Amino acid sequence: MSATVHPQWHTLSSAEVLTALGTSGRGLSRQEAAARLVRYGPNIIRRGGGVNPWAILFHQFASPLIYILLVALGVTLAIEHWVDSIVIGAVVVLNAVIGFTQEFRAENAMQALLALVSPRARVVRDGRDDEVDGKSLVPGDIVLLQSGALVPADLRLLVCTRLNVDESPLTGESLSVTKSPEPLDVSRSIPLGDRKNMAFMGTTVASGRGVGVVVATGGGTQVGSIARDLRRTTRAETPLQARMAQFGRLTGIAVLGASAAVFALGIALGEPLSHMFLVAVAVSAIPEGLPVAMTIVLAVGVHRMAKRNAIVRRLAAVETLGSCTVIVSDKTGTLTENQMTVQEIFAGGRRYVVTGAGRSLEGNVLVDGAPARVEADMPLYLTLQAGALTNEASLRVEDGGVLAHGDPTESALLVAAAKAGLSHDDLLLRYPRLAEVPFEPERQFSASVHMDGGRERVMVKGAPERVLEMCGTWMTPEGPRPLDRDAMATEAMRMAEQGFRVLAMAYGEGADAAALARAGAPEGLMFLGLQGMMDPPRQEAARAVAACKRAGIRVLMVTGDHAATAAVIARRLDIDGASGDVRTGAELEAMSDDGLAAVLRRVSVYARVSPVQKLRIVDLLRRQGHIVAVTGDGVNDAPALRSAHIGAAMGLSGTDVAKEASDIVLTDDNFATVYAAVEEGRTSFANIRKVTFLLVSVGVGELITILTGLALGLPLPYLPVQILWLNLVTNGIQDIALAFEPGEPEQGSKPPRDSNEGILSGFLGERLLLVGAVLTAGTLGIFVWELTHGATLAYAQVAALTTMVVFQNFHVGNCRSEEVSVFRKSIFSNRFLLLGVLGALAVHLGAMYFSPIRFLLGLEPLSLDSWVRLVVVASSVLVAVEVHKIARRPRARGERPRPS
Ligand code: ADP
Ligand code: MG
Repeated sequence: MSATVHPQWHTLSSAEVLTALGTSGRGLSRQEAAARLVRYGPNIIRRGGGVNPWAILFHQFASPLIYILLVALGVTLAIEHWVDSIVIGAVVVLNAVIGFTQEFRAENAMQALLALVSPRARVVRDGRDDEVDGKSLVPGDIVLLQSGALVPADLRLLVCTRLNVDESPLTGESLSVTKSPEPLDVSRSIPLGDRKNMAFMGTTVASGRGVGVVVATGGGTQVGSIARDLRRTTRAETPLQARMAQFGRLTGIAVLGASAAVFALGIALGEPLSHMFLVAVAVSAIPEGLPVAMTIVLAVGVHRMAKRNAIVRRLAAVETLGSCTVIVSDKTGTLTENQMTVQEIFAGGRRYVVTGAGRSLEGNVLVDGAPARVEADMPLYLTLQAGALTNEASLRVEDGGVLAHGDPTESALLVAAAKAGLSHDDLLLRYPRLAEVPFEPERQFSASVHMDGGRERVMVKGAPERVLEMCGTWMTPEGPRPLDRDAMATEAMRMAEQGFRVLAMAYGEGADAAALARAGAPEGLMFLGLQGMMDPPRQEAARAVAACKRAGIRVLMVTGDHAATAAVIARRLDIDGASGDVRTGAELEAMSDDGLAAVLRRVSVYARVSPVQKLRIVDLLRRQGHIVAVTGDGVNDAPALRSAHIGAAMGLSGTDVAKEASDIVLTDDNFATVYAAVEEGRTSFANIRKVTFLLVSVGVGELITILTGLALGLPLPYLPVQILWLNLVTNGIQDIALAFEPGEPEQGSKPPRDSNEGILSGFLGERLLLVGAVLTAGTLGIFVWELTHGATLAYAQVAALTTMVVFQNFHVGNCRSEEVSVFRKSIFSNRFLLLGVLGALAVHLGAMYFSPIRFLLGLEPLSLDSWVRLVVVASSVLVAVEVHKIARRPRARGERPRPS
């Protein structure tokens, strides 16, 4: 379903468009919007992507093991080994079911999380600003656009304030298009790219502001009609998945070689051909559990990060986060609370104190301890006016509290004006706004033109350096005087050194709105005053910075704010290492790449930095071998977010463009969340190593057992179906349970792992052989003992198989940590593991005592004697690995080369 098809919106006047769509500048009423949503359907474009269960199911059968098992199934059917056929068939089905459910669940969970951070739209409904889910837009809705926003539907623009739209996704044109609301010529047909008064769904606002009315939604839009999803996130294999795939291929080849060896050896020793064939098939199933375990580890990582407010947009982030060596963080809102409060004002040579805190209009403007007489104090009066008039935020008083809409810097100025008795709405009625230059970070100021009686006046607010450049005079209590720039700059510096974010205000008479709109930066203004606002550092950010230090991760603060303000906040958070060293964007500009690279090694705080310089910092850090995480919110942060190994966008204050460019979204905008995500990333990688080690070491144990047994001229210790049972059932359960291991506290005090580190690197190879040897000795020992003490072959095989199962159960404990003793881990800290171990044992006992399966697997119950013996023997793997952990402990600690 789509809106009424009327492709000629661009030729109509704004009034005609509004009438045709049955709406007005006040927007639709809520009821009408709800009714239209039912009529037109949700604003979404149906696409082929999303979660496709068939593709996931098919994926389960695309593995070499399954091919081998299917061949084996054919062979067993042909030679009428029905029991084997049933078992192999069951294994194939079970494998597909487990793999499918895990992958399907992981995929759905990921989609659900992504929906949490999907674009929202700012609309006017019932005459009020509101924010709604982009999916619920309907034709006739009035939509507000600002820089960085994704255009949420096809819009006919009504107001454009320096509005530039990037239409490259739709037209391929890389330059952004400047929009204006005038109707276009009716007589000729105008291509999409030239419809200057339209904004199309899926394009993004590069800069400026705009208001438009929705003319088409969902399938009725231009993008919808070409049925192309412009923002499809590519689901590429993560580097680790690629490395795991390679690892899987290598083990696959090794295992195939091993099973060929088993086969050849068996035949040479006179074992029957069909029997040896099945043994070889069963042996090749050894690495089978790995892909499912991997999927689960990553899904658990994504889930845990979401619980700690980090939504993963690209799976690769889970593992990359674990090796992060430096975090480049914004200041405002990330390291600070983003609860700006104006506390000090400087105007007309006098200092004022603003009382009252937080989100309340209670408070006063005091001078020398007494309330200031605002209306009689021209410099103060105009300073407050400028802050409130050149302002895009709005305040709404709701049940006693103040609900601020918009940028915190801007709402702080509205609150300060309100404390002095100046209401935003009244001011706008008295001085209607004619034009504006909205704030963009690289411009560092904003301006607006107002009607003042018969004249036009311009008001400016912004960074003091920038605003002082525009002024020639300043406002004193005695009237305008020539400006002493240095004196004012010193005053601004004094405020910044107390940690205030300082904004300067200026004023100009007779400015011409049209000229301002053209030229951008006004000149010849009168300086009015300064407003200093406090934004306290977040407490949890201070803790996270300290945690980063322990974990060997550097933290850099990169901000657009003033150097002095940045230095104060950095000191309170202990980011600068007490050196107080700060570099500014202007200084960076003068440095060569090598010079800056050297500075980056020492200095952690960067102020007045533009988005382009931020990108340069990120790129240089990468070149130094760092794994870089960077936070960002603005449209111009997108390149840095994309270039970093991990881009983290702000969920609350971030633009759609920043979110699209990022790997994770912080739903609370908090620096501490970046660290939490790093912690979970480390845990995920550790867990991948753990499950891999468990699987491979047990597989090696089985393999050496079989080969050694054959070489010693013993009968086979297990039947082929029993080997499958070990690999796919008991070990599978334990492996999945191990994927849920919680993080180890010791991780927090280790340096980041080398991102090139292998999956089974260092001493794990050694431990692998050790475990293989212990498992072999124990299993064959039991097997031979039973055989020489009068047991039947079948009984001895069951004893050997059960020894292996119990070995696995003990060994899972070993695998919970590479370094820490199993006895220092609570068995309750991973409940899945406890259940997994008990489950694997229960399944095995069930198979032993439940006759139908017992018959299939050829199991028979063991005597109490045998049980005691094999449990004692199997516990030896605990002792062996404990000893190895002690022996290897010193070498395992932080000796990895650090990036320079
Ligand atoms: P930050 O890294 O702190 O978010 P910004 O890039 O947002 O820095 O701001 C840079 C500077 O621009 C600020 O120090 C301030 O002087 C000025 N500024 C910030 N917000 C506004 C605004 N809404 N209007 C005018 N000037 C602003
Ligand atoms: Mg900012």
